[in-house]
Amino acid sequence: MANMKWQKRLMSLVLAGCMSVSVLATAAMAADVPAQDGQGTTVETAVDCAAGAHAWDAGKVTVEPTETTTGIKVYTCKICGETKTVRLPKLTTKPVSEIFTDVPAASWYVPYVQYVYSYGLMDGTSATTFAPKSPLTRAMVAQILYAQAYKPEVTGESVFSDVTNSDSWYYDAVIWASQNKVVAGYPDGTFQPKGNVTREELAMMLYAREGKPKVSDWSLKAFADADKVQGWAKDAIVWANQVGIIYGSADNGELYLNPQGNATRAEAATMLSKYLSLKDWAD
Ligand SMILES: [Zn+2]
Repeated sequence: MANMKWQKRLMSLVLAGCMSVSVLATAAMAADVPAQDGQGTTVETAVDCAAGAHAWDAGKVTVEPTETTTGIKVYTCKICGETKTVRLPKLTTKPVSEIFTDVPAASWYVPYVQYVYSYGLMDGTSATTFAPKSPLTRAMVAQILYAQAYKPEVTGESVFSDVTNSDSWYYDAVIWASQNKVVAGYPDGTFQPKGNVTREELAMMLYAREGKPKVSDWSLKAFADADKVQGWAKDAIVWANQVGIIYGSADNGELYLNPQGNATRAEAATMLSKYLSLKDWAD
């Protein structure tokens, strides 16, 4: 009896060996055969939901965009049911240089202003002006990022001594930004909502919004004023430079980061659209 068992086991091992050889042979042959539509592995089995790769459906428009407002489209994963919300641009095709009298068609920032305008992230300062060279306040940046996150309802109170009026237009945005660690405020406990945002502060907010990914070894020595970047902003500036959000500006053959300079509305539009176009948040 014992001998029989052993023979059976040996037989199944031999069979298993044959099978794996034949599977390998099929795989090798398949590589030389052109793929045929409707055959082989489907998209649904090729994705790995756990790793963040989903099989999105065609999506459903839940808010229709109009000439002046953006829309919302929701995609659902055909396997795990997870949803993804993306923004639809306004229907207007009018160039921003025709909407705003202070945005000349030839200016370098036109495509970026067009982007933030069509996705409803930045509006004009009036119906006919964008004020590209004006600074942006810290409250405005919080509001833009809050809008980009679809303005979720906030609970709790402000942790900043100078953001206490719940009627102010930026109150919810600042609370959201602080709770989501997008802003940290100043060591004295203030947020300084009306302060103009500097270029390194804006880089820091976007870096924080991105979850402060680890930056690899990267030198800023291409910039003549790299030593002006404050310690807390260094990783953010390195990251922003690495992913193409900040390139610096050229002056007399030297490149400058100008970290403590105010980010103008045109510069902010540029950094925001470069940051957001890296992401899967818009259609
Ligand atoms: Zn999925």
